[in-house]
Amino acid sequence: MKTILILILIYIGYRYLRKSISFKAVNIKAESKADARQAAPPDADSEEMVLDPVCKSYIPISSSVSSSVSGRVEYFCGPECRDKFISR
Ligand SMILES: [Zn+2]
Repeated sequence: MKTILILILIYIGYRYLRKSISFKAVNIKAESKADARQAAPPDADSEEMVLDPVCKSYIPISSSVSSSVSGRVEYFCGPECRDKFISR
């Protein structure tokens, strides 16, 4: 009778261990997914920065004003700087 009780306890312990191990594995999977997301940052962080040749400030390319000046594309922080550059 005692051995059966011990066997049942071992079985329960084994099942409990397996459950917690698989739970951990799922957690690790989720964490590695989160890591992968961090490794590939959102567009805002990886976005190319461009130099405004007028006020010498860096702006993200999506919020810059671009203009092709004598065959070259220049990027500006706003229309004021663009106009200044073109009228120079
Ligand atoms: Zn500017």
